[in-house]
Amino acid sequence: MARGHFNRNTKDEPRRLNAPFRNRDVRHLYTGKRMSLTSACEKLAGKLIASCQAPVGDVFAHPELITRFAQAALAGGAAGIRANGPKNVNAIRHVTDAPIVGIQKVVMDDGNVLITPSLESARDLVRAGADMIAIDVTTRGQRYGALERIRQIKRELSVPVLADISRAEEAITAARAGADFVLSTLRGYTFETAHIARFEPSFIEELVRLCPVPVIAEGRIHTPDDARRAMAAGAFAVVVGTAITRPTEIARRFSEAIQKQWAACNLKRNVLGIDLGGTNTKLGIVSQQGELFYHSTVPTPAFAGREVLLDHLKKQGHDLLDRANKMGDSPRALGVATAGWVNACTGTVAYAIVNLPGWTGAPVGDELHESLGIPVAVENDANAFAVGEKHFGAGREFRDFICMTLGTGVGGGCFIGGRLNRGAHFFANALGHINLIPNGLPCTCGNRGCLEVYCNAAALLRYAGDRFQTVEEIVAHGNSGKADAQRAILTFAKYLGQGCFSLVQVLDPEALILSGGLVQNNQLLIEAVEAELTNRIPAYKQRKLALRASPLGYYGGVLGAAAVALKRGIDTEC
Ligand SMILES: [Zn+2]
Repeated sequence: MARGHFNRNTKDEPRRLNAPFRNRDVRHLYTGKRMSLTSACEKLAGKLIASCQAPVGDVFAHPELITRFAQAALAGGAAGIRANGPKNVNAIRHVTDAPIVGIQKVVMDDGNVLITPSLESARDLVRAGADMIAIDVTTRGQRYGALERIRQIKRELSVPVLADISRAEEAITAARAGADFVLSTLRGYTFETAHIARFEPSFIEELVRLCPVPVIAEGRIHTPDDARRAMAAGAFAVVVGTAITRPTEIARRFSEAIQKQWAACNLKRNVLGIDLGGTNTKLGIVSQQGELFYHSTVPTPAFAGREVLLDHLKKQGHDLLDRANKMGDSPRALGVATAGWVNACTGTVAYAIVNLPGWTGAPVGDELHESLGIPVAVENDANAFAVGEKHFGAGREFRDFICMTLGTGVGGGCFIGGRLNRGAHFFANALGHINLIPNGLPCTCGNRGCLEVYCNAAALLRYAGDRFQTVEEIVAHGNSGKADAQRAILTFAKYLGQGCFSLVQVLDPEALILSGGLVQNNQLLIEAVEAELTNRIPAYKQRKLALRASPLGYYGGVLGAAAVALKRGIDTEC
């Protein structure tokens, strides 16, 4: 059939007032036995009624196609059909004995459609084969004589009458006037109920409680679960239309859901990361795959006190947010990694180290959330780095690993069984302060002989006899075969290997991930630490312990902060 054929036959449209239905419009007048109320009840109790209609201009607005929809619905388990207009009713009548609820939508003098506004329209439907007639018995319908029409139809046509209503009082009035069923069809479609946009099981419950006749749920029942809830609320049967017989609406719903989620995944899921260090603050915009779209570094006003530090973070946060907005992105969260121990559940600094005076107790999460208006996750910087490794770096393939950052200080984060271990009071992972040398060199923590003093950047410079300015210089000289640089690296590796040995003994991880400027491009260090571990650790070969350099680079802390924010968004547990 050519498409034009359908377009010319949009016969499902509402008829005009006073446009009489002519018997020759149906193929055969239906002269079969009328269905009794008892029989209708038996057939429809606890069943689906498919409303097979197509709006004006719809490609399915043709009796033949409406009939196909009815056949498909019946084949799928529907026990009855609701259809508009004698032509559709008659076409369906010829293919099924199932109960048909006939309606006739007519545009009235107020410009709006009314369902079955006259005895004549009801008679046409019955002649065409409808077993039952539904009519509008809303307040408006009653103004057009619906109550009298209920009595007329029952008296003159001897068929059950179904009252389409929108409110409980209309349902009660309809039942008193003799309606055999009430239907919630027009809830949300009348002046009084226009504010209601969803199916309400509670309304069905109310109707069931107040009405002496069976209640059939209809209107905005989109899913099997909506239908189930209607039945649970006490419905006698459920009418479903759009969700079964309106492919355009079905497609629209899927299409909108898909597009909305696509936009959410691709445009609005970037996160912001700020890594607050004692010297510099690094910041960036990070995708959920760990791409760094934007990054910058600004000095930290470390010694200016809590308020200035908080203002500093707010300013950086707003700058990132503005920048992200200009990229067409509305970031889902901000992650802040800060030096000091952090209560990750409250977003406050539990205890700050000496290089950020006044920072202890700072309510970083609350202040930034209030200022920026997006969720904010706060974490200790070394822990955040480990989360970054887990999401974007060398930790992705492991459940149990130790991440160690070697810089001015030595920090770390341990993943145990796939989760970041924070300890009972958020003070875990002080890897730099495990004791390496009894009564050794003094440490910033007040103890002597901590690992940090032997495995930080200053230690490497010291092992090289302070002949180099930076650790990167030592690494470069080591790589080009300079003996003094290599010796310094091997000394460093010996201490580090010793420290790692203790950690591995306690945690038995799958991997040890090292990060920091002195680890980058430093294969000699990795190999020497590995040799140290091989010599010391029992059953080393059985463990398959991987030793990796972090791939995250200079902005690893920002990636870590972003990963913390991302993780908090997915897994709400702090
Ligand atoms: Zn220490």
